[in-house]
Amino acid sequence: MWDKLWTRVHLATLAPINTPYGAIHDGAIAVKNGKIVWLGREVDLPGPPRGLAHHVFEMKGEWITPGLIDCHTHLVFAGQRADEFARKLQGESYASILASGGGILSSVRATRSSSFEELLECSSQRIRFAMRQGVTTLEIKSGYGLDMESELKILRVAKELKENFPISIQTTCLAAHVIPSEFQHRRTEYVAWICNELLPVVKKEELAEAVDVFCENIAFSLEETKMIFQAAKDLSFELKIHAEQLSWLGGSSLAARYGALSADHLEYMRESDVLALKESGTVAVLLPGAFYFLSEIQIPPIELLRKHHIPIALATDFNPGTSPIHSLSTIMNLACVLWRFTPEEALRSVTLHAAQALGLEKECGSLEIGKNADFAFWKIESPAELAYYLHGRSCQRLVKRGEEVMSDELQKNMVAQEKDFWSRWNSSNVDEEDCRTSTSRRAHAPSWLRAKREAPRGGKLSK
Ligand SMILES: [Zn+2]
Repeated sequence: MWDKLWTRVHLATLAPINTPYGAIHDGAIAVKNGKIVWLGREVDLPGPPRGLAHHVFEMKGEWITPGLIDCHTHLVFAGQRADEFARKLQGESYASILASGGGILSSVRATRSSSFEELLECSSQRIRFAMRQGVTTLEIKSGYGLDMESELKILRVAKELKENFPISIQTTCLAAHVIPSEFQHRRTEYVAWICNELLPVVKKEELAEAVDVFCENIAFSLEETKMIFQAAKDLSFELKIHAEQLSWLGGSSLAARYGALSADHLEYMRESDVLALKESGTVAVLLPGAFYFLSEIQIPPIELLRKHHIPIALATDFNPGTSPIHSLSTIMNLACVLWRFTPEEALRSVTLHAAQALGLEKECGSLEIGKNADFAFWKIESPAELAYYLHGRSCQRLVKRGEEVMSDELQKNMVAQEKDFWSRWNSSNVDEEDCRTSTSRRAHAPSWLRAKREAPRGGKLSK
């Protein structure tokens, strides 16, 4: 007997079925123990629905897609950078703003001076927004701390989100985001600090699965990137890279040589880099939000990536400076309009290929038997609609490992419960050590926040 069965739906499976979107019209999908156990045309069900599952939900012709996956975000940060937006509009370059202490460094100042609770509260709102947009898995990078206390604070906030929200969250240490002001003339020391001091602590506390480096003229050189990758690899971290965004340094080929999960941005990538990615199975993550917001004109070599069959993922790169965009469907629209993605390519890029960019393709990213029952319901006439609205698109309901974690009805309850949670949290006497281990907080957490703790744990990088 299955746990749940949804009938009268259309499925965009993204699985290797010979139809656009891997679509199954007039379908049904069943789950048991959090996994997909059956899917296909409703007429092919092996019996009357009521006799097949404990709970049967007869829908009204909604489309179901795999839960969306945002595989590149900088979601935990404080402040905003609207003043720099105005400076950029007057012609100042990103590099010049960074050189004057702005850019990433201004977000670093704001994030350092924010408390764990302040960061947790603003990040929680962002997670809720992502869930509303159909996201069941996302990645969060650190990189606005750049000292021991602040990098760990960001990663602990991300870990807290991971433990308390009913979606999968992967964390990445991006201490190599930019050289902090206090190390401006001691960059070798900063790189050595990341390798020898920070990464071992991050590993010991299990605060991140991966390590990322911003390999660029205004950030870290190829040689510095190599040193950090070697240290990260020695500690068994997965690897990711921000590469070839503003210029070509060859970071993507380096990442491929180190077996990185993904190389991200890639506007200035060359064919030799594409071949290196193919060799290593590294996913190309393209970020049209930053391309759009920085008014870039160098388009990533999409034709070369297609020609060599490199899996292309899309992500929001959500951050306060270069991509203040937190909707994956907006990102899909940008990729279609600016880079001529097809809507189907765009949807595959935020599901199956995004799962691959996190090493999770065996667990999620498509609707297939044996994968996690992570999916989103949409009131749309065709899946192309998901890339059509520039303002983003809310899903009707969201299912994570077979449990409904978001719907119009649940949303109302969640808002009320979260309000209550924060008011109790703010009035409770919890000391700093408790904040770190957060045991007291969990006792206060509403049931939907606690629910995930009982769900089977997955989400570990498998590659
Ligand atoms: Zn980024």
